[in-house]
Amino acid sequence: MKKLQAIRGMNDLLPEDSPRWQYLEGTLKAILQRYSYREIRTPVLEFTELFKRSIGEVTDIVEKEMYTFDDRNGDSLTLRPEGTASCVRACEENGLLYNQTQRLWYLGPMFRHERPQKGRYRQFHQIGVEVFGMTGPDIDAEVLLLSARMLRELGVAEYVTLQLNSLGSSEARAEYKKALVDYLSQYREQLDEDSQRRLESNPLRILDSKNPDTQKLLDDAPRLLDHLDDDSRQHFEQLRKILDANGVAYEVNPRLVRGLDYYGKTAFEWVTDQLGAQGTVCAGGRYDGLVEQLGGKPTPAIGFGIGLERLLLLLEATNNLPEGLEKQTQVYLAAMGEVQSHALVLAEQLRDALPELQLLSHCGGGSFKSQMKKADKSQAELALILGEDEAEAGKVALKYLREERPQETLAVADVIERLRAHFANGKA
Ligand code: ATP
Ligand code: MG
Repeated sequence: MKKLQAIRGMNDLLPEDSPRWQYLEGTLKAILQRYSYREIRTPVLEFTELFKRSIGEVTDIVEKEMYTFDDRNGDSLTLRPEGTASCVRACEENGLLYNQTQRLWYLGPMFRHERPQKGRYRQFHQIGVEVFGMTGPDIDAEVLLLSARMLRELGVAEYVTLQLNSLGSSEARAEYKKALVDYLSQYREQLDEDSQRRLESNPLRILDSKNPDTQKLLDDAPRLLDHLDDDSRQHFEQLRKILDANGVAYEVNPRLVRGLDYYGKTAFEWVTDQLGAQGTVCAGGRYDGLVEQLGGKPTPAIGFGIGLERLLLLLEATNNLPEGLEKQTQVYLAAMGEVQSHALVLAEQLRDALPELQLLSHCGGGSFKSQMKKADKSQAELALILGEDEAEAGKVALKYLREERPQETLAVADVIERLRAHFANGKA
């Protein structure tokens, strides 16, 4: 029989990995809390239509990356490839955008059928922010400052660069598209197949091309920033001023267009040179047209998504994971003989009295030797040993596993006091 395996590009997160994830997520969530952002959770499945209508038919995601299948009723469903569309759908459906602003965040798995490699997976995780109802540029700056703080407080500020662009209004983009198509059409033969196709379907995406020859052609191409409408130009200038006032450094990158169709005005990415080709750790922008496009009232909005796997790789590569993240067992309770019931009563008593204590209560019997071996392996500092005599007498033996100290037999109340004192100084 064929061995069962996980799907390629979809990773198990093992117990030894989770302390790092908890640290990363905990740090980011605490920062979101400090900015008064609130969490939203949406289903991982949505009607396929939602992503087609928001992300855009002619994008990498919709053209070739979505996990789409027919439900048993024949509805076409898709595993979410990103968080913004679902968030907009949920806000609209639940009246969260009616006459009010929202500052929201989400965290969870996203799914894209891409070629798996370092920093690129088929199931990956994003923490993202979406804010609604504010035209900016102050809120654009807040969102950028928030992302900057996340990277700073994780210790990776010096390894990332903020790339910033304005995509202008949709009218300005349409004008610019024409200019770009005019320019590139002269060199149609020199473009690769993808870009030739995009010349008709989605010319702005050519700016994003990784092909060096195409990039060269683009050096002399018209620049989106030179085609901005007045409103977008002012917005961009004011945003830059606020970032300057906050000492946030950035590079203006006129070729930054983002892979999704719904962006306009502010667009940005935080990129690093530490992760090879998968260098974008955070990406986002303004999408004032999306809510209306999905059937709601016109509502300005801006957001970003952080790829958590990439961010974690960056923390690892730059030695920014704190020591001792793994919380280990502090006390190992061994149970000798017919004392199972007593042992579990004692364990619960200890957990009631010492809520911070990390206690492992041995189950399944075994010899003294084998239980002590397990206690040692658990890295516990102390072992409690409950034998039949102790259980009878309401006592328990206390053994120091990492110090030369004699074993003692104590009443339960005294054990609680001893443990409280031993671990009071955070010595674990
Ligand atoms: P890329 O250009 O690397 O494909 P993208 O533009 O498709 O990225 P977005 O849709 O903007 O990415 O998603 C936001 C962030 O999510 C990315 O910056 C990245 O950190 C992360 N991300 C996107 N796709 C993947 C993936 N397949 N595996 C891991 N992380 C990903
Ligand atoms: Mg992509």
